[in-house]
Amino acid sequence: ASDPGTGGPTAALDTLRRVFGYDEFRGFQAEVIDHVVAGGDALVLMPTGGGKSLCYQIPALVRDGVAVVVSPLIALMQDQVDALRAVGVKAGFLNSTLDLDTRRLVEAEFVAGEIDLLYLAPEALGSQATLRLLERGRIALFAIDEAHCVSQWGHDFRPDYLTLSMLHERWPDVPRIALTATATSATRAEIATRLQLTEARHFVASFDRPNIQYRIVPKREPRKQLLALLRDEHPGDAGIVYCLSRASVDKTAEFLVANGVAALPYHAGLDAATRARNQQRFLREDGLVMVATIAFGMGIDKPDVRFVAHLDLPKSVEGYYQETGRAGRDGLPSTAWLAYGLQDVVQQRKMIDTSEGDLAHRRNLAAHLDAMLALCETVRCRRGQLLEYFGQPATVACGNCDTCLEPPESWDGTVAAQKLLSTVFRLDRERNQRFGAGHCVDILLGKQNDKVTQFRHDQLSVFGIGTELRDTEWRGVVRQLLAEGLLAVEGDYGTLALTEASAEVLGRRRTVMMRREPEKPVRTAKPRGS
Ligand code: ADP
Ligand code: ZN
Repeated sequence: ASDPGTGGPTAALDTLRRVFGYDEFRGFQAEVIDHVVAGGDALVLMPTGGGKSLCYQIPALVRDGVAVVVSPLIALMQDQVDALRAVGVKAGFLNSTLDLDTRRLVEAEFVAGEIDLLYLAPEALGSQATLRLLERGRIALFAIDEAHCVSQWGHDFRPDYLTLSMLHERWPDVPRIALTATATSATRAEIATRLQLTEARHFVASFDRPNIQYRIVPKREPRKQLLALLRDEHPGDAGIVYCLSRASVDKTAEFLVANGVAALPYHAGLDAATRARNQQRFLREDGLVMVATIAFGMGIDKPDVRFVAHLDLPKSVEGYYQETGRAGRDGLPSTAWLAYGLQDVVQQRKMIDTSEGDLAHRRNLAAHLDAMLALCETVRCRRGQLLEYFGQPATVACGNCDTCLEPPESWDGTVAAQKLLSTVFRLDRERNQRFGAGHCVDILLGKQNDKVTQFRHDQLSVFGIGTELRDTEWRGVVRQLLAEGLLAVEGDYGTLALTEASAEVLGRRRTVMMRREPEKPVRTAKPRGS
């Protein structure tokens, strides 16, 4: 029984203070809670750390019955339930990790209404037994956490989420609240449709995380660059380092440890006990660096993560935003640092080409990668571009990202692009040969090395016509052409090939502006507004 909207302390506010020990609601928590308590459906978009959990936990306590929380984070259910029990809230979970006795006990508690929240994995709702169980209890509301998992075009699709549309058909009078930290307006629309949340009120928080400084640097010697970042700016700080492969997680963790940094590895190849132990240590001890694949981090609530570093390019802006969002949940200045290079583009394009799935799926992956590449290559404010991607127009440059702190120069790279594309063209069309970026750059620089001599590439008309740029600058040209789809990579050796769009550049119908490769890395760590 609550009295939303009467102005006095509501049951919700009372619960916030009495049970959770907080003074005030944050952002639109109060509005969401009032709406759901009153029986309305809600779609809540809030960045990680925004405080989504209370949006369903408080209605769960205020409304009669048990709140059923659907969450894909099976590994964290125990922690979530423990955290609630620690403040005196009765909660339980059902998933595949439980033994039969415990399962029966939780089921009985649910039916008797002795708990206020029941956490379920999405696949459970595909089983008739679970549905029959739910029919026997009284449900206060359904909360659907990580709701973006229902989006087929998202980066985190889980087919089990599609079955959740039936909740509305089976329990038309039970309010539903879907929550996510990741949604473009397209994903938001998809969530609403697929979960049949057509009547739901949308609550969309700002996605800006002003205390996070975004920086994307050219990748040279990534581990050394990382070490410099940790030593110069984050000595003794807790942080997360993301790598694409398990092997590179292990190597990077070893490298950091050998250089005196307290680092731990985390990836799906480690046994469950080691993973759990490393995760617990990271959460409980101060100043540990977790080197991990993206298997690590979903649902991790550690407020004082001071930096998130990516040694490899994330596959999508959604992923990048979510991963970097684990930094600075306490609101203090934090760094999101990404090292990105030519090899990342080559590797990811190759992964997409060889991925399972139909053409539409590969196109979707490619579109996500393109948005990520555009963020890397932009000469604009990174934050502005990031927020715009999430449908939130940014009006002013933020002053707290690398492009704001040290605006990159752009230059007209049309001629350079033409030289490079002609090289690829000559090799391909005249000689029917394909080579990787390194060799093409050697030809442009006029290097008389073995490979050049062997293939007599010093006879090509393009040999030595590119001495105005340095080797690293040429690699920057290749990378940016790849990023813009003006050049493609193919096959196991990452050989270069022309695209349809290449012709526009070769035919002088298109100019190509490029970002100048910085001489020195940006190292200004002044937070905004201080
Ligand atoms: P999300 O699920 O959106 O990532 P959480 O629900 O885990 O975020 O909340 C993030 C942190 O903020 C938690 O430590 C939580 O206890 C805290 N928090 C949430 N709401 C409030 C509030 N109104 N006042 C103070 N702290 C809050
Ligand atoms: Zn900026």
